[in-house]
Amino acid sequence: MKATLAPNSAAARDVAYQFHPNTNARRHETVGPLIIERGEGIYVYDDAGNKYIETLAGLWCVAVGFGEQRLVEASSRQMKKLSYYHTFTHKAHVPSIDLAERLAKMSIIPSAKVMFTNSGSEANDTVVKLVWYYNNARGRPEKKKIISRFKAYHGVTVASGSLTGIPLNHRDFDLPIANILHTTCPHHYRFSHEGESEIAFADRLAADLEALILREGPETVAAFIGEPVMGAGGVIVPPETYWSKVQEVCRKYDILVIADEVITGFGRTGQMFGSQTYGIQPDIMVLSKQLTSAYLPLSAIVISDELYQHIADNSARIGSFVHGITGGGHPVAAAVALENLDIIEERDLVGHTAELAPVLQGGLRKFADHPLVGEVRGVGLIAGVEMVADKATKAGFDAPGKVGAMLTERCQDNGLILRCLGDTAAFCPPLVIQRGQIEDMLGRFGKALDETHAAVKAH
Ligand code: PMP
Repeated sequence: MKATLAPNSAAARDVAYQFHPNTNARRHETVGPLIIERGEGIYVYDDAGNKYIETLAGLWCVAVGFGEQRLVEASSRQMKKLSYYHTFTHKAHVPSIDLAERLAKMSIIPSAKVMFTNSGSEANDTVVKLVWYYNNARGRPEKKKIISRFKAYHGVTVASGSLTGIPLNHRDFDLPIANILHTTCPHHYRFSHEGESEIAFADRLAADLEALILREGPETVAAFIGEPVMGAGGVIVPPETYWSKVQEVCRKYDILVIADEVITGFGRTGQMFGSQTYGIQPDIMVLSKQLTSAYLPLSAIVISDELYQHIADNSARIGSFVHGITGGGHPVAAAVALENLDIIEERDLVGHTAELAPVLQGGLRKFADHPLVGEVRGVGLIAGVEMVADKATKAGFDAPGKVGAMLTERCQDNGLILRCLGDTAAFCPPLVIQRGQIEDMLGRFGKALDETHAAVKAH
């Protein structure tokens, strides 16, 4: 423990006893944590009373804002009635039944069935098993490979972490596992050829995907997984026509399409699901985060009737579908999700997102001329601002992530909690944000960006 942290303070105890995810452990011993004490709407407050705009809604989660009493009351009501029960071995409870029905009816997958887990990672791990199980059930044991994309983010558990296509998520964790492949990242700014249009780029990516499938043998490829808009990889919006072309290739070789809607689900892109924004017709959808506004952990896997029928037959052959998670579909989390979905609908947060999208997207695009900014991208209320060392060549900085860390710090001093993915600032505020609050957020961001630029120049 370092002397900079007051003895026995919460910060000192944190450093003494807690080991943090996604954190430089040695640096943490010196700097300690920023301790967040409470939240209200788009704001959170630290233990010294400082107020911040949460520009990423926590971790892309808190759609209805912090401190929503209706969710507190819904959880309390359910906690008093039935605080826990499971859904194994022919048991059920009404909150998970109601939520399954609601998600199946909302979903764009016809005659869908829903299974619950607790996190995005767990849901994607379950999806990998479902895909393998389905193909075994269909007597195609060789059809097992799953194609993801470079820069994808699908979680950190062994299978979902393998689907993730970010090298640092694999490094020293012995990932990816076998049978997981990665194809080209659909980021036009970074990976298009000189003068290549978005449509030509999408053609090339679809051809890359088809070439990969043919190289591997289509009889060995089971599924393609993608986030409609890539999140943790740097908020990457697909090029025009990309999803229709990718789907066409998948259909041609009888390859399932999995839409990981963990970030894009429930309004983020200005429609209920990112799949609607991009014309995706998935066989499987993965939902989490905004499903409960992360007031409690919950994730859902929505599958097509075609998958369900084969899986159900196989469970009858084996005697059971021998997979399940103790807390999956927890009644309190399900009750919170139902109330949260009521709020999203009653307040028309999807329409509100579509209406305010130009304020965020247009406001951020004004920074495109800033000397530090290479690209501004986004859709709905999700956006990324990528900083570069050289605007003309798009060259990044010598030490990737360092300028991002400087910006994050400057933002914090200006009342913003902002997350940089490498050197890309990510924006994904609570959907309840208002026009004036977006303008305030952008004003603070602009000041922090100028201060970061001054510091970079001074180095
Ligand atoms: N999929 C996507 C698209 C995500 O953004 C995330 C989390 N950022 C996950 C899966 C994993 O979710 P979790 O952290 O709840 O495991």
